[in-house]
Amino acid sequence: MNSRNQLPMTPSLTSRLPAVGTTVFTRMSALAAQAGAVNLGQGFPDFGCERSLIGAVNAAMEADFNQYPMMSGAPVLRHAIGAKIAALYGHQYDVDSEITVTAGATQALTTAILCSVHPGDEVIVIEPVYDSYVPAITLAGGVAVAVEMEVGAKGYAVPWTKVAAAVNGKTRMIVINTPHNPTSSVLRAADMQALADIVRGTNVLILSDEVYEHMVYDGQRHESVSRHPELAARAFVVSSFGKTYHVTGWKIGYVAAPAALMAEFRKVHQYNVFSVNTPMQHGIASYMADPKPYLELPAFYQRKRDLFRDGLKNTRFELLPADGTYFQCVRYDRVSSRTEAEFAEWLTTEIKVAAIPVSAFYQQGKESGVVRFCFAKKDETLALALERLATV
Ligand code: PMP
Ligand code: GLN
Repeated sequence: MNSRNQLPMTPSLTSRLPAVGTTVFTRMSALAAQAGAVNLGQGFPDFGCERSLIGAVNAAMEADFNQYPMMSGAPVLRHAIGAKIAALYGHQYDVDSEITVTAGATQALTTAILCSVHPGDEVIVIEPVYDSYVPAITLAGGVAVAVEMEVGAKGYAVPWTKVAAAVNGKTRMIVINTPHNPTSSVLRAADMQALADIVRGTNVLILSDEVYEHMVYDGQRHESVSRHPELAARAFVVSSFGKTYHVTGWKIGYVAAPAALMAEFRKVHQYNVFSVNTPMQHGIASYMADPKPYLELPAFYQRKRDLFRDGLKNTRFELLPADGTYFQCVRYDRVSSRTEAEFAEWLTTEIKVAAIPVSAFYQQGKESGVVRFCFAKKDETLALALERLATV
């Protein structure tokens, strides 16, 4: 019964995500700001994007591209994306029915999971696993089944025989990420072949997170799932303009998938975000006419990777391979016996360089004495971080 002197009551809520807290990236960025540390934790560049990209978005606003775009994305942008995928990976998606512009890769990944996974379905994820996949699987009522990467002389690798063993009648989807955050490993043609062998003749979907597609080094090529017709026929392929064009705060990306899968994706997308902001779509579409920015990205980041790795050779950290992404993982057992979270916090507050504990990418918090640095930073930022890291 309500009475006048009773305080308004907030009903209690049973959490849909009881195991989830604030992300490790947000926490480490806050700690870095508080400690005045160089932030090599959360993955984002500390340099600006090209002014012409900003000009292109401004021009789109001035030209009054300011009302709702089509739910699937502005046609000019879908055409630009379709042409890019066809030129780079040789697969022509139908731009009307097979490409959708999303509010960043995160929304694409979550929507792909929500539209495909039913309660009780199993979804195989590869650990260490990017933090947004498992909560999305949980929201869908699915069960995440983790297969751990193995570490050998060449770094982290996916043990495909274990993935094959994890597939059963309940498996709805396998989520892959190449180049891989946080390990910087890259799937090769043989990996794609192994994956194709596993899913052939099954009803298993692939969700391929390729946000770092333009950050593959040492002359290697990016093995997009869209290069492999057999895989592309059952896959959602996701990318992000935030990574490619140094604008992580714009939160704009896309997903490509066969029409039958995309039709279901769009049913969820249209009641989730409906559509993504118009002027950025037009601005990015005109900026994409020149492929140079993404074609030159591997060389741009490879130089930073090499500069950072060379500097780290003067420290007591042990370098792990970095074949792609803008991350570098290091082993720190010569420096400290702390847990990864403790070590990352100590490094941030005492040495003034923030890092991310790789244990945060394991559901059970597995400790392997490894932290991740982001080298998408100005050379002077990297130099300052290296100077500090050399003191530990
Ligand atoms: N997937 C991976 C592997 C990422 O590292 C990130 C961002 N760091 C995302 C998805 C999310 O991309 P977006 O910011 O476009 O949502
Ligand atoms: N994906 C970025 C990283 O790995 C962070 C994105 C976020 O803060 N959610 O660092």
